[in-house]
Amino acid sequence: MRPINKAFRFVAVLAALILALELPAGQQSPDSPDLDMMNKIRFEGLRHSGVAKLAAYLSDVIGPRPTGSPAIARANAWAAERMKEWGLANVALEPYASFGIGWAPLHVSAHLLEPHYAPLIAISTEWGSSTKGRITGAPVYVDIRSKADFAKYGQRLGGRIVLYQPPVPVPTPFTPDARRHDEASLKALAETPVRASQPPDPDYVRGFLDELEDFFRAEGVGVLVSSSGAARREYGTVTARGVRQARDPKRPRPLPEIILAAEHYNRVHRIIEEFKEPAKMEVEVRTEFFDRDLLGYNVVGEIPGSDKAGEVVMLGGHVDSWSPGTGAADDAAGCAVALEAARILKALGVKPRRTIRVVLWSAEEKGWVGSKAYVEKHFADPETMSLKPEHAKLAGYFNLDNGSGRIRGIYAQGNVAVMPIFEAWLRPFHDLGATHVVARETGGSDHGALDYVGLPAFQFIQDPLDYGTRIHHTNMDVYDHLIIEDLMQAAVVMAAFVYNTAMREEPLPRKPLPDPMHYPVRR
Ligand SMILES: [Zn+2]
Repeated sequence: MRPINKAFRFVAVLAALILALELPAGQQSPDSPDLDMMNKIRFEGLRHSGVAKLAAYLSDVIGPRPTGSPAIARANAWAAERMKEWGLANVALEPYASFGIGWAPLHVSAHLLEPHYAPLIAISTEWGSSTKGRITGAPVYVDIRSKADFAKYGQRLGGRIVLYQPPVPVPTPFTPDARRHDEASLKALAETPVRASQPPDPDYVRGFLDELEDFFRAEGVGVLVSSSGAARREYGTVTARGVRQARDPKRPRPLPEIILAAEHYNRVHRIIEEFKEPAKMEVEVRTEFFDRDLLGYNVVGEIPGSDKAGEVVMLGGHVDSWSPGTGAADDAAGCAVALEAARILKALGVKPRRTIRVVLWSAEEKGWVGSKAYVEKHFADPETMSLKPEHAKLAGYFNLDNGSGRIRGIYAQGNVAVMPIFEAWLRPFHDLGATHVVARETGGSDHGALDYVGLPAFQFIQDPLDYGTRIHHTNMDVYDHLIIEDLMQAAVVMAAFVYNTAMREEPLPRKPLPDPMHYPVRR
């Protein structure tokens, strides 16, 4: 080897060493965050956090928030007031026309009276009707698997309490309800599964379910009874369920129906089916429909930008919830974190280059209705992929909707160009557990509506806790199961990501524009 080469190699190694030493400290990378600002965000979010109060008010005081109910209207007004109180600009309830009839539960009671007394854990199906007063009588079980079975039960169900689902066995779970990510589970997320595109699932059940509903209606059933049974829905955990197409003002209102805790459903079923013993139940459901205002509303508020004010960074969660709990983890948590992130930035008096817009979506639980309407109004039509001018102006969107677990990283949503940027942005939060950027996509919430039209929209990786096992859509989605320290951490990380996106020279890189497509069908 010639001496010149040796010298060159020495310099190259030295340069690489300097880079290796200095780049992680972040001073050379264009995406290294402003560490002074990161300090301020951490200080404000970890020492002066308001997130607990926000989450508690939304869940405990306002309570469950089905879209179109008076409760969501209260939540929207309350959120708008908070935004104004902190000095956000352009605070508004932005209407959209695609929602339909609203609904709220007013009263649900269910008791077993004979052969012994037991209070039963019951909720109303969402958008289910009221019973005609209190119904007391012998419950009947119908085993209807096809249209041919209708004849067996004709003229026998008028005014009755009708169990219509086969009982579901209740397993005893031997693994913990709650968990945090560890190195292995985070590593598993780092690999992106590749899947061939699937043809849309033919909804073959729908025809029969419509006919079943028509049959029960024609028979004049008093109240339907179904079971919450499914794995991890034991020990009195009851999962909410909606009624299809119930928001369409042209369709008949759905029948009254209660969902019982699986153990209670199975007990009644065994008494009347296995032992053929007489039983007596008492059931009363009162619900209310709201058809005067068929609009849905998303709540927005802004911290105006400066030299790039026409460009926007958005953050949010969804304010609507299922009705049996208080929608604490799903998604008062995400709303509280997004609001708190906005509060932190406002409290620090930041002067962002781009406009920061916090959004609380409605009707996420009914199939991203609010966010899809927003996308179609502001950004693009997903079915034609024709873009509106605002499409070019969205620098990034950050969503939080996986419960109250702390942020462990972020899904790059298949956009590998953002990965090194997000890695640099997470660095000042490694000590708080936010470490991983993974390429894979995650769905299931409103960022999907933006991602579907090619916008850089992301959701964070959160510790799963007990979200998927006990909390999600159940009567136990309540404030007591939120981990407040985790929400504080999440607000800090979210505020940092939003701030960095607002200050970056360029908007976040985008994926290629998707083909025109239909949103996946959801209930
Ligand atoms: Zn949710």
